[in-house]
Amino acid sequence: MAAAAYELLVLGGGSGGLAGARRAAELGARVALVEPQRLGGTCVNVGCVPKKVMWNTAVHAEFVHDHADYGFETAGVKFNWRTIKEKRDAYVRRLNDIYENNVKKAHINIIRGYGKFTADPEPTIEVNGKKYTAPHILIATGGRPAVPSDSEIPGASLGMTSDGFFDLEELPRRSVVVGAGYIAVEMVGILSTLGSKSSLLIRHDKGVRMDTKGHVVVDEYQNTTRRGIYAVGDVCGRALLTPVAIAAGRKLAHRLFEGRQDSRLDYENIPTVVFSHPPIGTVGLTEEEAMAIHGKDKVKIYNTSFTPLYHAVTQRKVKCVMKLVCTGKEEKVVGLHMQGLGCDEMLQGFAVAIKMGATKADLDNTVAIHPTSAEELVTLR
Ligand SMILES: Cc1cc2nc3c(=O)[nH]c(=O)nc-3n(C[C@H](O)[C@H](O)[C@H](O)COP(=O)(O)OP(=O)(O)OC[C@H]3O[C@@H](n4cnc5c(N)ncnc54)[C@H](O)[C@@H]3O)c2cc1C
Repeated sequence: MAAAAYELLVLGGGSGGLAGARRAAELGARVALVEPQRLGGTCVNVGCVPKKVMWNTAVHAEFVHDHADYGFETAGVKFNWRTIKEKRDAYVRRLNDIYENNVKKAHINIIRGYGKFTADPEPTIEVNGKKYTAPHILIATGGRPAVPSDSEIPGASLGMTSDGFFDLEELPRRSVVVGAGYIAVEMVGILSTLGSKSSLLIRHDKGVRMDTKGHVVVDEYQNTTRRGIYAVGDVCGRALLTPVAIAAGRKLAHRLFEGRQDSRLDYENIPTVVFSHPPIGTVGLTEEEAMAIHGKDKVKIYNTSFTPLYHAVTQRKVKCVMKLVCTGKEEKVVGLHMQGLGCDEMLQGFAVAIKMGATKADLDNTVAIHPTSAEELVTLR
């Protein structure tokens, strides 16, 4: 017999699970969170946070090349992988503690262990031999990397996933990264910028496409096919990003515990950044998608390519490229794609404008900030 002390049971203490659990608790629900590992999930432990620390490390390595051009004599600069690994790990541990304290402050009960559904007639979760049930159960157990078998790629079992990257005690002298998703691009960028001789293996256009097999199927309200069971985040296999998991978890809590029947995440125009070198920022439709939806003659493209002012005095030159995708007579901006220094920080504000339905004329009517790279987007011709 399961103990039904809770109104919401959440499986997974990552971005989506924590957001849903905390918002539901704020709205007065009795919540329990099942998590076998450190709180924070992929993002905090082996994803966005430690990745961004390593990306920043690699950015330092890039800028070292420009020091002499800016008048700094820094000959003999040495990089110590262990220093940054120790600092990064300590920062992540601090975040784990903060997350745990926040969960406790919200009076959410943490149940330690892997949860699994039982065959009981009522939806029931078993953790370490004990059964739990609740009228609402949220699955937020994240994703798993697809590791090829040795028959698909001989020697594949000798490799590691991105989780293993964060355990590396030394910078590998040589590395091969398999895949063409943003994580692969970011990993190879970090490794090669820091001095590892790196290769990125990319398959032909077609295997790259994501297979939905194994992902929990949900409708636009995060409902699974079973009444009372929901799923958010990577486990659904759509827009695999921390803020997406968080937003979906919160929206669901408002629907379930505040009676907001329409509360759901709008998956359109989700901005995203690839922390490559230089970074990529993208939101909305690509040129091809816009043409397929609106027709070729209804799409107008604005492009620019320039060398940022930062490189005015450096021998190393890295271009910045930008593209606006507009549709219709009013030239509504339906896509913005850019790669270059600062594009990671530039995108968020433009994404707000695009979400609000900005047109090319709205961008043109905005006074530029000079001298910046962002001003190019409001002066495109
Ligand atoms: C290397 C890397 C870099 C990334 N960089 C970015 C980035 O820059 N920006 C961005 O937005 N996103 C990034 N992401 C993606 C982001 O981390 C995920 O989209 C986000 O963490 C998804 O949140 P989630 O709640 O769905 O799952 P997760 O955060 O993965 O949480 C799932 C949790 O469920 C737990 N769990 C699993 N099974 C069970 C079970 N049976 N019972 C109980 N608990 C269970 C796990 O231990 C885990 O803590 C990155 C991911 C990786 C791998």
